[in-house]
Amino acid sequence: MNQDPKHSVRRIVLPSGKSIEVVRFSEQDVAGAPRREGIHVCPDCASDLVQPLAWSEASGDRWELVLSCPNCRWTEEGVYTQAEVEELEERLDDGLTDMLDDLQRLAQANMADEMDRFIEALHRDHILPEDF
Ligand SMILES: [Zn+2]
Repeated sequence: MNQDPKHSVRRIVLPSGKSIEVVRFSEQDVAGAPRREGIHVCPDCASDLVQPLAWSEASGDRWELVLSCPNCRWTEEGVYTQAEVEELEERLDDGLTDMLDDLQRLAQANMADEMDRFIEALHRDHILPEDF
């Protein structure tokens, strides 16, 4: 096996049939402990849904971010390292993955619902061979 253990690629197939790849990097290769659990975690209410409202490049390998918690409306403007920002981006990708999963389940649920209606119509003889 020649697989790089530092990251894994997850393929997501959208309901439209298109597929996208989400690359995940393992957190084990990040040296040193982060200042807190991650900048995606709100220090006020511990929600992990903190989103960047704006970002711009700061000096060096740093980024100036305006962070906001959608849960308690906490906001903070600060300068973060490349590693911290990458970690946040990874969390955002996780959120995207969750959303796509939900979307897929929703599409399947809709299909199942249509199938039920189709079967019911068949039982009631609403669909006749000449319909096809
Ligand atoms: Zn919060």
